[in-house]
Amino acid sequence: MGNADYRKHNDGSLNSSTYHKKDGTKVRAILKRETEKEVEMETNCARCNVSFIDGKVSSIMSRFNLDIICSHCESKEKLHPAYHEAQLAELKAVQNGDYNFPGIGKPADL
Ligand SMILES: [Zn+2]
Repeated sequence: MGNADYRKHNDGSLNSSTYHKKDGTKVRAILKRETEKEVEMETNCARCNVSFIDGKVSSIMSRFNLDIICSHCESKEKLHPAYHEAQLAELKAVQNGDYNFPGIGKPADL
């Protein structure tokens, strides 16, 4: 009986304390680092900083520059007087074979 108690106690401490704690902390640290890295790689709207990670907000590239923005900021962009000009400039660039056109630049009042 004494032997069984010893084993039971030992298994428990291995699972819940020593093994689990050590492993879990490591994984979480790696995940955190990867999340921080992704934030730098457009997981948030460049204009209003809303997160794209939960999938509730869709992301799209700005017509004015290379910013990745949310659909809300996109509709704001579309209402800007220079939007048509940006659209035309991009169309012209593509027609000229420039598929990496960076845009006409974000208007200061957007
Ligand atoms: Zn936004």
